[in-house]
Amino acid sequence: MYVFPAPAQPSVAIRGSALRFPVHRIHCVGRNYAEHAKEMGSVAGLENPTFFSKPADAVVADGVDVPYPPGTTNLHFEVELVLALSGGGSGIAPERALDHVYGYAVGLDLTRRDLQAAAKARGGPWDTAKGFDHSAPISAIAPASEVGHPAHGLLWLEVNGQRRQQADIGEMIFGVRECIAELSKWYALAPGDLIYTGTPAGVGPLQRGDRFVAGFADIARLEGRIACAQARGVMTRRSRAERAPKGSGL
Ligand code: MN
Repeated sequence: MYVFPAPAQPSVAIRGSALRFPVHRIHCVGRNYAEHAKEMGSVAGLENPTFFSKPADAVVADGVDVPYPPGTTNLHFEVELVLALSGGGSGIAPERALDHVYGYAVGLDLTRRDLQAAAKARGGPWDTAKGFDHSAPISAIAPASEVGHPAHGLLWLEVNGQRRQQADIGEMIFGVRECIAELSKWYALAPGDLIYTGTPAGVGPLQRGDRFVAGFADIARLEGRIACAQARGVMTRRSRAERAPKGSGL
């Protein structure tokens, strides 16, 4: 009954299971670690964390090459704890928030940092900087029924064998409960939603051929490589959004 075959349902592996987690939406939290907020030029403590999103089909599985995206010369890594929801709703109270968590994963919020800086400078939207194809690598999801609901645990990232980011998730400004409660004030959360909970300090660039390994405690592990070949749909160094005249309503 569709005019062409419906797009495939994006999904994520579940640790120790043949079942898969169907992705509904990808929500992201920005500025959720004080030290990272500072390195991005925010004055820590004066601003609440912020929210943005990525398309559901931006997920990239563990062990799969990530194409270097077009339209940027400054692709950045951001390692993050990812929440996978099996429940949802609006106006979720913090004390009920964990009831909606199916499990935990580690992921990368890949960012076209040059486009983000340009968007910030002109007060424009971040979409081209954040919500692009293949921008959300993610490990297998560890079910909370097996690993519980950790309040602490080391989140880390290595690039080409060098430790680049690490922090305890207890340092998050919005903890797991608050991320869910706050997001549910703005969006109806639903089963299949992923929440990338923000990155610690230490973000930096990835080049073609770089290998990354990320982990969260003994709960999740993600490996991958930035592909050596250029992604298709190559654009010039300055994206269309960047070239658009001021006030063009993009
Ligand atoms: Mn992020």
